[in-house]
Parts: sequence; structure tokens; C-alpha cells
Amino acid sequence: MTSPSPPDLAALRPRLPSPVEEVADERFTRRGVRLLLKRDDLIHPRLPGNKWRKLEPNLLAAAAEGRRTLLTFGGAYSNHLRATAAAGRLLGFATVGIVRGDELAGRPLNWSLARCAADGMELRFVDRATYRRKTEPSVLSALGADGCFVVPEGGSNAAAARGCAALGAELRGVADVVGVACGTGGTLAGLAAGLAGAGRAIGFPVLKGGFLTAEVSRLQTEAFGGRRGDWLLDDRFHGGGYARVSPALTAFADDFTARHGVPLERLYVAKALLGLTTLAEEGAFAPGTTVAAVVTGGVE
Ligand SMILES: *Cc1c(COP(=O)(O)O)cnc(C)c1O
Repeated sequence: MTSPSPPDLAALRPRLPSPVEEVADERFTRRGVRLLLKRDDLIHPRLPGNKWRKLEPNLLAAAAEGRRTLLTFGGAYSNHLRATAAAGRLLGFATVGIVRGDELAGRPLNWSLARCAADGMELRFVDRATYRRKTEPSVLSALGADGCFVVPEGGSNAAAARGCAALGAELRGVADVVGVACGTGGTLAGLAAGLAGAGRAIGFPVLKGGFLTAEVSRLQTEAFGGRRGDWLLDDRFHGGGYARVSPALTAFADDFTARHGVPLERLYVAKALLGLTTLAEEGAFAPGTTVAAVVTGGVE
């Protein structure tokens, strides 16, 4: 079998480094703090934000191993599944999506899964008990992963964390504090390593559970050989868990858009900006501090 040629990601014209925009927000400026938006949502229309940064090194690794099929995992509205399906279509990989929830099988696809299918992704629906065991070799085999390049849920592995180090490098000397929403933690792991102590990274988990400190440390150890950079988690802004969007969060996001003209994706980005804004109002940032919020994705 001949190896596929390396995928030509440059041909997709990613907007990298991603733009940085300053916004004048009185909740920050009245304390002498600048607020920047790191617009990773503008990197690529189909592979936005951290999904580009995490997938790129995995796609290169898949090609280097001669794999032609990517297999990965996600929930019914997973941004990672959509990005993987799009990457496969644009770069010539077959894609398989293992979707949590066998009750979804045989029903009309929601808009997100329909987009995956339209990009050629083969969807396999599995029950939640099996989904939880998806990293076990026998379960992976039964799911048809043999011969595929397996990308973990959310796209977070060592290669992905190394890809996200570029985000931190782009912000070195630009921001003193960088806030980012966390799902699986790969973005924070790389961001903090790329900042390399030149700034503090604050992660805002969007899921309940308090498992992320260990997970980010694990990813940093796998990717970089140990804990790297200055980072911490603030667990106060998940609002009850993944995809829980309270009226207060909606009001905050609508108000932010009215003030600055930037729509805020609700499940991740709005929670991170609510966290940073709350910290500013609590006086957590000294006057003269520059804070950057990573806009990890846009509104679909
Ligand atoms: C996937 C995603 C995240 C979470 O990134 P992790 O590396 O899993 O922590 C944050 N924001 C958006 C918009 C995402 O799509």
C-alpha cells in the first residue's frame, strides 16, 4: 500500500496567527485593565478555533502512518465531530464518527450530525455504557477502529496539545493573563506550555466534575514531559454543566454582543468571558494588566 501524501493544510488558507482585537469594556477599563479578544474563531470557516490547532498535527501524523481513515468520538452536537468530518472531506481522509447515544440511531439527524454526514462521515451510534469504555482496546476493535487513525474525544491528545502551544506562543508578550473555555483540556494544556510562564492561563471548565486538573497535567506530561507554564482552573462558570445555558448567561452574552458587536458562542466562549469579566469585577487583575480571551469558536 502506498502512503497517502501529506495533507496540504496550507492550501486551506488558515488565518494564522489569528487576529487579536482590543475591545473597550468598562468593566475592565475602569480597573485599568485592557481586554483583548484572540479571534481563533476566524482561523478557518469549517475548522474553527482550537479544532484547527488540535487537528492539524493529528492529520499529519495520520498521513505519516499511512492511515486513510480517521475515527473519532463525540456527542450529538460535537464541534469536534463536525471539524473532523470537514477536515476529512477537504483533505482526502475517510472519517468515522462514534456518536454517544444509541437512541439517536434511526432518527432524523440533527443539524450537526447532518453536517457530519454531508461531509462524508460514517456515523456509528453506541450506547452510553459502551461509549464510556471507548478507550479500551477490545471496545475500540469492536467499534471498527483497527486500521484507522484514532483521535480521542474532543481531539485532545499529546499532538493536539503541542498544536495548541502555537496559541500560547502567539500571545507571549501580548497578554499577561489568557482565559480559555475548557472541555477536554487540550487547548489549555498547549496554551499554557506555549506561554511558557510569560503569562498566566486561566481555564474555565464548561463541564462539571473537577476532573480537568488531572487531565491537563496528564496531557502536558504526554506532550511536553511534565507540567508546563503557569495555569489554573476556575470552576465557577460551567453554569450547571455541558450545554447548560442559563438566562443569566444568555443575558451576559447578548449584552456583550450589543456592546462590542461580537457574537459569543454560548457553550464555551460565553462562559469564559463571563469568568474573565467576573474576575475583573472582583479586582483579580492589577491595574496595567492585559487580559486576552480566546474566542475558541463562533456561533453556528
Ligand atoms: C472544543 C471546544 C472547546 C474545548 O476545547 P478543549 O481543548 O476540549 O478543552 C472550547 N471552545 C470551543 C468553541 C470548542 O469547540
